[in-house]
Amino acid sequence: MDTKFLMKNYKRKVKIMYKIAVAGTGYVGLVAGVCFAEVGHQVTCVDIDEKKVELMKTGVSPIYEADLEGLMQKNYAAGRLNYTTDYRSAYKDVDAIFIGVGTPEQLDGSANLSYIATVARQIAETIEKDCLVVVKSTVPVGTNDKVEQFIKDFLVNDVKVEVASNPEFLAQGTAVRDTLHAARIIIGTESKWAEDMLKKIYEPFNLPIVSVNRRSAEMIKYASNDFLALKISYMNDIANLCELVGADIQDIAKGMSFDERIGRNFLNAGIGYGGSCFPKDTKALAYLAKQHGYELRTVKAAVDVNKDQKTMLFKKASNRLITFNGLKVAVLGLTFKPGTDDLREAPSLENVPLLLEHGAEVYAYDPVGKKNFKRKFPEGKNEHGTIKYVDNIEEALKGANVCFIFTEWGEVKALKPEEYKILMRTPLVYDGRNIYDVKAMKEAGVEYYSIGRPQVKVVEDMAEAAAAKI
Ligand code: NAD
Repeated sequence: MDTKFLMKNYKRKVKIMYKIAVAGTGYVGLVAGVCFAEVGHQVTCVDIDEKKVELMKTGVSPIYEADLEGLMQKNYAAGRLNYTTDYRSAYKDVDAIFIGVGTPEQLDGSANLSYIATVARQIAETIEKDCLVVVKSTVPVGTNDKVEQFIKDFLVNDVKVEVASNPEFLAQGTAVRDTLHAARIIIGTESKWAEDMLKKIYEPFNLPIVSVNRRSAEMIKYASNDFLALKISYMNDIANLCELVGADIQDIAKGMSFDERIGRNFLNAGIGYGGSCFPKDTKALAYLAKQHGYELRTVKAAVDVNKDQKTMLFKKASNRLITFNGLKVAVLGLTFKPGTDDLREAPSLENVPLLLEHGAEVYAYDPVGKKNFKRKFPEGKNEHGTIKYVDNIEEALKGANVCFIFTEWGEVKALKPEEYKILMRTPLVYDGRNIYDVKAMKEAGVEYYSIGRPQVKVVEDMAEAAAAKI
């Protein structure tokens, strides 16, 4: 493990060692717990999932996240980090409890706060000393007020309890790095006691802290995520127009990126955003606005564009092909982005069933996402169609009629244009991540469709090319 970056900024030695519990060991809770232990706090991570807890005790991370396992093992061995399902013993005498449970989308777009409510109730019934409860999960504005009232309503012992907001900004795939080197820590508090304690907990990280009230902290999280989602949808919207007018979105992005007012990040066009945050956080903010009689038109537009964008490649391929029936379709990448095994809202989840339902035989490759995908679409013939999971890209491409690229994994990017031509029966590639140089694909004799760039139409007689390989 390259640990150099881990040592770079933070002071490592805490002046005050706090006893901390973290509720939920997903991407946010586990990474936060491990990083708090790494800087010297005493941490117990709580989860309701017994299998996860047992796994973590053996030093294995239940999620795929760079650098995480090494730090788990190191801090567990040092006695600073523990895992349990027994929330009573974990919560009763800690200084602070961080809540990192899920807040998934409900059918109407609102955030499901039932997991937060369960933890709040458990806290109320178990704490035996003064305690700061810190909500790290992404929650609609006003939720922290309700959580505090809820805990006070059910409090069993005569102790002081207060709720603070501390939204998380990590990106999956770089979660540990993002936590130890966050651009900023946002804390939302309603008292000096809470503000001071949170500042002291974060002091060893040596990072800028922005201290605001609870509602503003909750809003900063949504406003940030939704702005990034909007940026992506904007670029995708422009990309679609680029195709119609003969411009190239990658050149447009390059030209725009020099403008400091715009910035250089999140300008890549593709098949839309996915993951556990942007899709639900855009809908939740739009819902919150609606509840207050306001229509958040910009965010709604971002959601609409993203919805269409996700199936853009399938539509393109449907226009090009008479049928998918009986075709071998290689799918490269299943996760919503590289560096994670998370499938939540991944474009593959919409496109693979479409391909299967249209009769394609899908050969799917992903370095870490296959296991989770198999749970939804079991190997072989299932209710949607026939899918086979392969261990390498070559197996997926060999003899394939069509290839779809959904995730820009390093090993997919490393593949040379000629390899599509050599391996596939007919080199027809739909790239949702704009990985390849259009000219290079053309020169390699690959029929190549991407997003917002010139499309390489049929470069030779495909029937002839296929016949040559029979
Ligand atoms: P997750 O689904 O990966 O993990 C949630 C965990 O909480 C699960 O392990 C679950 O078993 C556990 N849990 C449920 N009820 C519990 C209880 N009563 N006690 C203890 N554990 C319990 O979720 P996540 O992706 O880490 O997201 C958590 C929150 O953080 C969400 O609100 C999300 O929007 C926000 N967030 C996520 C990210 C991200 O990149 N994933 C980034 C920033 C913010």
